[in-house]
Amino acid sequence: MKVLVATEKPFASIAIRQIRQVVEAAGYEFSLLENYSDPSQVNAAVEDADALIVRSDKVTSMILDAGKKLKVVVRAGAGYDNLDLESCTAHNVVAMNTPGQNSNAVAELVFELILFQIRCGFTGKTGFELRTKTIGLHGFGNVGKYVADISKGFGMDIYSYDPFVSERIMKNNSSKQITNLDELYKKCQFISLHLPFNDITKKSVGYDLLRLMPQNAVLVNTARKEVIDEDGLLRIFEERPDFCYLADVEPDCKKVFEEKYKGRYIFTAKKMGAQTEEANINAGVAAARQVVDYFKTGNEKFRVNK
Ligand code: NAD
Repeated sequence: MKVLVATEKPFASIAIRQIRQVVEAAGYEFSLLENYSDPSQVNAAVEDADALIVRSDKVTSMILDAGKKLKVVVRAGAGYDNLDLESCTAHNVVAMNTPGQNSNAVAELVFELILFQIRCGFTGKTGFELRTKTIGLHGFGNVGKYVADISKGFGMDIYSYDPFVSERIMKNNSSKQITNLDELYKKCQFISLHLPFNDITKKSVGYDLLRLMPQNAVLVNTARKEVIDEDGLLRIFEERPDFCYLADVEPDCKKVFEEKYKGRYIFTAKKMGAQTEEANINAGVAAARQVVDYFKTGNEKFRVNK
């Protein structure tokens, strides 16, 4: 069996060492394609691979066509909108993710962005503090829970909206449940997005929600840029000089922000949420273990396609 790790943005080298160990200890061949500049390089590398591990790399029907021996694809990370699930199924390939493995890294990034912003980028200007402020978590899964945990440490008042998570789970994680999304946005000066990108959530955060936020509103998006309706976001920025947007990955309308709204936004140039050694090791090793487990026992616990 050959396991290919194909990542345009590489794992930390310590993570690669550990992934290799897991694969080789199982008696499989390890193969690595990093920093590739063209997806056609993945097509070539995947030709004789039985398993493929990726990060945010797109797994398209072209790659699946090229990987004639592929049996399993694992996205080392939580969101799996980069995998063409229908095509995986059509190619008889099991698709998996590694949920929860990078959640703390993402949650810490939320606060790294917030703190830099509300202390005015350490420019000497007077900022403000987090204690007693309200934070709303839109989506309360793995990352949302860690954000709640850190928010508690800052003495914030925490509210969460997630139609699929019970009040008890929220309460156990220091958060009050909000069942009406408008109410979440009305109540909270800080809103942090932790919902998946899918057909329902696409562009679901727009003007009608954002206009409800209180003064000095800060919207933090470490989820996916696609959940934002950028026209609505720009409208709010035009109307509300107090509004800030902090995002892990630049929006498509970044140029407008650069021209008009300096000081009111932070965009990471590359997705940075999971870019810690710990998260790389956790997600990479989990992906390798899931591949081995799938081959040895048929375990499909983290399967995301039908
Ligand atoms: P998760 O699956 O553990 O949690 C997502 C939560 O969203 C679930 O509890 C689900 O019930 C909830 N949800 C689904 N639809 C919803 C809706 N319409 N409204 C409100 N809640 C809804 O995922 P996670 O690991 O917590 O990741 C959250 C987001 O962060 C995802 O978009 C993921 O892709 C993204 N992410 C980004 C990075 C990064 O590097 N920036 C890393 C990991 C995850």
